[in-house]
Amino acid sequence: MTFTVQIDERACAAHGDCVDAAPDVFELDDVARVIGTGPDELLLAAAEACPSAAIILIDSTSGTQMYP
Ligand code: SF4
Repeated sequence: MTFTVQIDERACAAHGDCVDAAPDVFELDDVARVIGTGPDELLLAAAEACPSAAIILIDSTSGTQMYP
C-alpha cells in the first residue's frame, strides 16, 4: 500500500509534532504543509503523533481514507 498524505488545515493546530516525526515530509508554516513523501510506516507514525488528528492518509490505489 502507498499512502497519499493530506493535511486537514482546519484541524491543524501547528504543534509541529509531524515535522519532528518526519522532517522530509512535513514543514510548518501557519499550518503544516506536505513537502515530500516517505515510507508508509513513517507516514503512519507521523499521523499518529499528531495531537489533532489532522494528518489524513489515503490509500493511493483505492482512494480509501486509511487514517484517522
Ligand atoms: S502535528 Fe498535526 S496539528 Fe501539529 S502541525 Fe502537524 S498536522 Fe498540524
